[in-house]
Amino acid sequence: MKQLPEPFRIKTVEPIRMTTREYRLRKIKEAGYNTFLLRSEDVYIDLLTDSGTSAMSDAQWAALQMGDEAYAGSRNFYDLEATVQNVYGYRYFVPTHQGRAAEHIMSKLLIKPGDYVPGNMYFTTTRLHQELAGGTFVDVIIDEAHDPTSTHPFKGNVDIAKMQKLVDQVGAEKIPYISYETCVNMAGGQPISIANLKELRAFCDRYGIKIMLDNTRTVENAYFIQQREPGYAHKSIKEIVKEICSYTDGCTCSAKKDGLGNIGGFLAMNDEDFYIAAQAEVVVYEGLHTYGGMSGRDMAALAQGIRESVETDDYIRYRVEQVNYLGTLLSEAGVPHVVPHGGHAIFLDARRIVPHIEQDEFPAQALAAAIYVETGVRTMERGIVSSGRDPKTGQNRHPKLELVRMTIPRRVYTESHLRFAAEGVIELFQQPQRVAGLKFVYEPKQLRFFQARFEPVTAVAETVLK
Ligand SMILES: *Cc1c(COP(=O)(O)O)cnc(C)c1O
Repeated sequence: MKQLPEPFRIKTVEPIRMTTREYRLRKIKEAGYNTFLLRSEDVYIDLLTDSGTSAMSDAQWAALQMGDEAYAGSRNFYDLEATVQNVYGYRYFVPTHQGRAAEHIMSKLLIKPGDYVPGNMYFTTTRLHQELAGGTFVDVIIDEAHDPTSTHPFKGNVDIAKMQKLVDQVGAEKIPYISYETCVNMAGGQPISIANLKELRAFCDRYGIKIMLDNTRTVENAYFIQQREPGYAHKSIKEIVKEICSYTDGCTCSAKKDGLGNIGGFLAMNDEDFYIAAQAEVVVYEGLHTYGGMSGRDMAALAQGIRESVETDDYIRYRVEQVNYLGTLLSEAGVPHVVPHGGHAIFLDARRIVPHIEQDEFPAQALAAAIYVETGVRTMERGIVSSGRDPKTGQNRHPKLELVRMTIPRRVYTESHLRFAAEGVIELFQQPQRVAGLKFVYEPKQLRFFQARFEPVTAVAETVLK
């Protein structure tokens, strides 16, 4: 396919600043070798996350001025509600301030202590809320998802045999729902197929298990379906998004990603009792059910963003193909990373880039720190640190995937920014001994990757990093 230029032109710019290597070495030490603890102004190109980092359109900025900041019944709530109903097709809508708040409320309402919650790979906040509600997460994604070299076109798919095994082991009555994620983040932004979702629907109907969609990246997933799944080439992104949702019973959503919002999230569902119960929870934890932690202007900008995400197919084509561009530069230089390229990020394979670092010395964490020092580009760890400890045994989980995520904010960076980031990574890839293993100096109990602090394992290692 011919690469098309960005389907927008630039109207406002935000200056960014390059720093020296010496300065960055000092800053990463001060940040405990954790890129989450760096200050944004010390970062040149910020590929930490695609969450809430999108550039808004002129129509979104205009919408901010139309915020109705009434405590109750803001017109922006009704507009957002209608937009979610129209784009995703669910009957009921409950706003929250972001995705994890929706996960909290859903987990609290649907999971009983002792239940099992299968999912196509875990997501950090999703699994934590399942565990806090007394549930046990069970990974039912296909094996290919755990292999960064497998070129399966739909590595996000659920393995129905793994679902059957779980039902046989614990009984369907102990499985309230499956958490089904589009463009599975922890697998490398890997899509699900409609064929898999239909098969799962039939399976779940047989056992009375609900399908709750993690709707955070359904638009990106729809693009992969349009490109790869037989019968979908001539369907619009808007049609495919709605079709995906139609096979599910409801969703949680972080609207800070596909939704092009800087903040926001929601729960949506078709079941009226669940809706009423969720509204009752939202007033306890988020705010009234007509704002759920968002201001009127946030809801206005978000509604406009959700509409833009599916209005034409041009936006999402640009979005996913830009990620592919970064991945292609790395492929050409032989830098190991997860293939096929995902929808929101390129995931470097730290196991193969820094094979001299044992998993217990946090190779992906160390690589992300080194990338910052060498290039000023901020990335993040998705490996053993993100995976955390097993709540029952207290032991570190050892995921197969040990990755550094280079996440692309939407509509923010140009091709030359991405080329610069790729060139920096390629240079480091050629001198892997610059990267040294780490050990914890502070380990938070939950979601430790956000706030953990590290230091190099040995004094020798520290000189190497210098
Ligand atoms: C970001 C994300 C969440 C959590 O949403 P927040 O808005 O960060 O709270 C849940 N699931 C997936 C797949 C995500 O990427």
